[in-house]
Amino acid sequence: GLSGRLGDVLEKLRGKGSISQDDVNAAMREVRIALLEADVALPVVKDFVNTVKTRAVGQEVIKSVTPGQMVVKIVHDALVEMLAGQIGAQAPDEAEDDGKGEGERKKRDRVAEVLNINATPPVPILMVGLQGSGKTTTSAKIGLRLKTAMRKKVLMASLDVQRPAAQHQLAVLGEQTGVDTLPIIMGQKPTQIAKRALDEGRKGGYDVVILDTAGRLAIDEELMEEVAEVRKITNPAETLLVTDAMIGQDAVTVATEFNEKVGISGIVLTRVDGDARGGAALSMRAITGRPIKLMGVGEKMDALEEFQAERIAGRILGMGDVVSLVEKAAQSIQMDEAEKIARRMEKGKFDLEDMLSQFRQIRRMGDVKGLMGLMPGIGKMKKQIDAANIDDSLIKRQEAIILSMTVRERRHPEIIKASRKKRIAAGSGSTVPEVNKLLKQHQQMGAMMKQMKKMGGMKGLAERMG
Ligand code: GDP
Ligand code: MG
Repeated sequence: GLSGRLGDVLEKLRGKGSISQDDVNAAMREVRIALLEADVALPVVKDFVNTVKTRAVGQEVIKSVTPGQMVVKIVHDALVEMLAGQIGAQAPDEAEDDGKGEGERKKRDRVAEVLNINATPPVPILMVGLQGSGKTTTSAKIGLRLKTAMRKKVLMASLDVQRPAAQHQLAVLGEQTGVDTLPIIMGQKPTQIAKRALDEGRKGGYDVVILDTAGRLAIDEELMEEVAEVRKITNPAETLLVTDAMIGQDAVTVATEFNEKVGISGIVLTRVDGDARGGAALSMRAITGRPIKLMGVGEKMDALEEFQAERIAGRILGMGDVVSLVEKAAQSIQMDEAEKIARRMEKGKFDLEDMLSQFRQIRRMGDVKGLMGLMPGIGKMKKQIDAANIDDSLIKRQEAIILSMTVRERRHPEIIKASRKKRIAAGSGSTVPEVNKLLKQHQQMGAMMKQMKKMGGMKGLAERMG
């Protein structure tokens, strides 16, 4: 993956205050390879690399991360922005504060919301794309979602006269989802079926009419003209290009052709549940300028989600975990403190003052166990942390105990005998056994630090993380 390769290159960039042109050039060579390996089209890769280069040079490196991790973060953020495109900016939830909490917001169905269906009913949605890309499946998924999440009355119609079984396939999915389908009349042309669907939509009081079209194995003129004609006569509120995440380099041709000859309003990426790296998403987004609205994540009818740029960006770069680690670290670790402790640890010193400072850092990082879980090869240490029973409320109480000690006691814990323990317990609102427990834990942490030193200290740890 990218992180490993980048890791080698960026190892050399340690200890610099800001990112230089050379640093960026070296890193970008590797990013380029990673993007090409993920099947992002070459012109898109070039554009992206240039954008990131400009952005990264001169950027200050957060002290707590390596310049390499910093570049990775810049690359990742730029990728997310590019993938997210307009959709993030236009999402109504972000634009206005409706007074509801974050949790409430997440619960609401974004799939139904990313679709533009605010027009006079019946609102047509046209599904286009190559054969086997997932148009019929996605039609039914959307139909079901509009019905359940927005209580819309939906009619689906198959315009696929290429394959006799295709219209039947949609009828079956309609029955399965409880979404109405247009009765099949054999021998009609796609445009005739489309007209009939809109007529039926009006007569039957439908809110939305989903038009599922035929696809070919490859782009051909006849297909394009047919679909363009359907679009012209139905004037859909959404024309969604459905593409398989595994499409690879063909994404460029498919997206360009459909966008120029038919005109699309958005993209649906299917089979995101597979192991494709998803570079096609970036190519299609960049080339058409159209947002990727939804993603299919399985064959089941509920396996449809709002497109998540973060998730695809992580996959394209092949390093999701590293990025979230960098993210967390950047937010919270105060490196001056950490460095100070690291230096003392290297000298084999770890007193209660250090422990206090460590506690504060850990609390600032938030979910310490979650953070540890992200680091590869750290299982052993995690076990020790679990054993030492570090959690937030406990940490706060332990901080209180240390705060009740004199500086001399913190520096020389060995002088803390019975009478001092009583005083410390009283001062911190705890008990002598709790003070004892803290002192024991300090010893355990000291032992853990010694082990970390064997692993190569903080630097070794960072290397394992990269
Ligand atoms: P169409 O020719 O474009 O209409 O494609 P279909 O909707 O018939 O889908 C072709 C195949 O892909 C079917 O077997 C679907 O079940 C499957 N499929 C569609 N979307 C997804 C998805 O998001 N994940 C997975 N795993 N399979 C999908
Ligand atoms: Mg189909």
